[in-house]
Amino acid sequence: METLSPALHTDSVMYITKRPDLVFVKGEGSWLIDHQGKKYLDFLQGWAVNCLGHSNPGMIAALNEQAHKVINPSPAFYNEPMIRLADLLTANSCFDKVFFANSGAEANEGAIKLARKWGKLHKSGAFEIITFKHGFHGRTLATMSASGKEGWDTMFAPQVAGFPKADLNDLDSVKALKTDRTVAVMLEPIQGEGGVIPADHQFMKDLRQWTRENQILLIVDEVQAGCGRSGKLFAHQLYGIEPDIMTLGKGIGGGVPLAALLARNDVACFEAGDQGGTYNGNPLMTAVGISVIEQLLAPGFLAEVEAKGQYLRGLLLDLSQELGLEGERGEGLLRALKLGRDIGPEIVERARQLEPVGLLLNSPRPNLLRFMPALNISREELALMVKMLKQVIQSI
Ligand SMILES: *Cc1c(COP(=O)(O)O)cnc(C)c1O
Repeated sequence: METLSPALHTDSVMYITKRPDLVFVKGEGSWLIDHQGKKYLDFLQGWAVNCLGHSNPGMIAALNEQAHKVINPSPAFYNEPMIRLADLLTANSCFDKVFFANSGAEANEGAIKLARKWGKLHKSGAFEIITFKHGFHGRTLATMSASGKEGWDTMFAPQVAGFPKADLNDLDSVKALKTDRTVAVMLEPIQGEGGVIPADHQFMKDLRQWTRENQILLIVDEVQAGCGRSGKLFAHQLYGIEPDIMTLGKGIGGGVPLAALLARNDVACFEAGDQGGTYNGNPLMTAVGISVIEQLLAPGFLAEVEAKGQYLRGLLLDLSQELGLEGERGEGLLRALKLGRDIGPEIVERARQLEPVGLLLNSPRPNLLRFMPALNISREELALMVKMLKQVIQSI
């Protein structure tokens, strides 16, 4: 393998964010290796995407096998993996129909369109979707408008209209936004980019009851919290509720571009021409999705995610106590450590630069670290991360 010179030639890559001067060339399980051969313990995993870690053998086999059969018959035809993955998802959820997309934002766009279509057919053209402050739904114009990120309302103004913002865990703030035009409420069961903030149990139960009583659809965006990350196959199952629409992304492909829009029969009202996309249901991606979901459903796997989540929680609480931090929160293997000071970005930098082995972390807010490791990570690797993290925090 040719080693890249330290002066990387990256001029032709469009600037969208500041990236470190590293090129990653290989991944294995919870480890990434850069162009100079340095290893990193990976607690980003492609941003909560690689739920089975890097280079998962089952995913590689599925990708290879399908590549030799057929890569793209066209979205106008059925293909085998598309049907099998849709069957697998409906058999293991409260939903009846699945549309496959390529990204979380695209799945959410589909959810918004489906809700608006349903409003047209069943609610006199109601189209408003109540979403939440600090929520995140993607980077297309409609999903940015649905997101509650600060500053996003003016960034590419004008926004797409029809997304009033409520406060998470405050049902009165939702009720106050209801009008004749309200067709749906859309939320992340656990706000991910907002800083790993789970919805309260009672709030979710009450929200489900109130939306049902008012003929308002409940849409859960499980792009980040779904597919085993919370310790349940789907995060809304933590609350014992059944939404009308769910979106999946990130984990469902385990690292390949795959996302899904799921709906119950009475809500799945698209007609020919309403929805589509060149790669929808692409067999190469859906074949990988089958491997991912089957591995998540293997006996004991999700129980282990839950147990390892509790193990990580214990380690983080001990660390917090020892270093005078402010505790932790989260579900399963989506967790955050509350630092109490704005040292998150500095921790991320220093952790990556640790020698001889680096650590990849994320700080969604300056006073917070978020952990989104592979769901099949070992307890030893979880303990190693906390040990490395302790060393970094003590050096600041
Ligand atoms: C990442 C994310 C999205 C957007 O997914 P993309 O694949 O980046 O378009 C949407 N919703 C949530 C909750 C996410 O975490």
